[in-house]
Amino acid sequence: MKVKPYSQNDRALPMKVAAYYNKEQINYEDRHIPTIGDEEVLIRMEYCGLCGTDIHKVIDETVPPETVLGHEVSGEIVKKGAKVKDYKVGDRVFVAHHVPCFTCHYCKRGSFSLCAQFKQTNLDPGGFSEYIRVPALHVKHTMGLLPNGMSYEQGALVEPIACCLHGFELIDTHPGDTIFIMGAGQIGLLQVQIARALYASNIIVSDINPFRLDKALEFGADEAINSQKENVAEKVLELTNGRGADIIIISASISSLLPEALECVARGGTVLVFAPFKDTEVAIPAAKFFNDEIKVIGSYSSNPYNYEKAVYMLKNKVFDVERMITHRFPLAELDKAIATAHNPTASVLKVLITP
Ligand SMILES: [Zn+2]
Ligand SMILES: [Zn+2]
Repeated sequence: MKVKPYSQNDRALPMKVAAYYNKEQINYEDRHIPTIGDEEVLIRMEYCGLCGTDIHKVIDETVPPETVLGHEVSGEIVKKGAKVKDYKVGDRVFVAHHVPCFTCHYCKRGSFSLCAQFKQTNLDPGGFSEYIRVPALHVKHTMGLLPNGMSYEQGALVEPIACCLHGFELIDTHPGDTIFIMGAGQIGLLQVQIARALYASNIIVSDINPFRLDKALEFGADEAINSQKENVAEKVLELTNGRGADIIIISASISSLLPEALECVARGGTVLVFAPFKDTEVAIPAAKFFNDEIKVIGSYSSNPYNYEKAVYMLKNKVFDVERMITHRFPLAELDKAIATAHNPTASVLKVLITP
């Protein structure tokens, strides 16, 4: 569906958004098109990816009613403020939602996603909207041009890929390492492709969904373990001659995966927690940390420096985006999109929302 071009008199013209009220109710409703300031731009959304965190916020009801979620955005600039010099109307862009301050304690240590400002910045009203106001800080730090030949679909993948790259920045991988990715959803499969492209590694993936496991093998995994049929830790030890995986990335929101990972991580290995856990407490084999020099680290979101690399990798076809995108839903069917993506046994990977 094409939306008619924005004009100066459109302040009163409603636009459509998909707004969260509770887990049973997502409304397709009218809002005013946001007014922009001198250093801001207005974009018309082309695609907004549905992220696992959007689904988590809806299913676990962690955000206030009327919230417009969505942060993996690509679109076209339809209006710009007088002081915006680096972009023009008609530019094709990607944009993400959080901007750090670059000056606080955490930013100075390079932990940009821990910055207090980071979570306070956002797109207006959110990604699941026909039109989006991009605030000044985002114009400067989280928006970028899509290179010629890069599709809007690819543009919507910039943010999730940037998050995965941030995770890989935190781990120390070596050629020949075994990387074990727990969870072969949209994030796990991006990680398979990054691991395949950047590291000469042996890649193992586990999931309960046979469709996703097949995809993992297509995207470059060497082994795929069905965790409903096999003992995952035993299988990983078997596949690595008893050594275990050097790097384990937990990309599914199941806290019991942490003790399972610690059972099959190699000595000197790292477990990267890349998903939010609902249950806060799990029992872990504490003695391993000292004796085996095990590292357990977390990775949250991305930072502005990851976007350029994500665009570069997309441009160079590191990712098979076409095969990643299994579903497209219009804004009016965001509820259906969430139900589809939340079904752990469905044949679904990346879901994109369109106006
Ligand atoms: Zn995301
Ligand atoms: Zn900061």
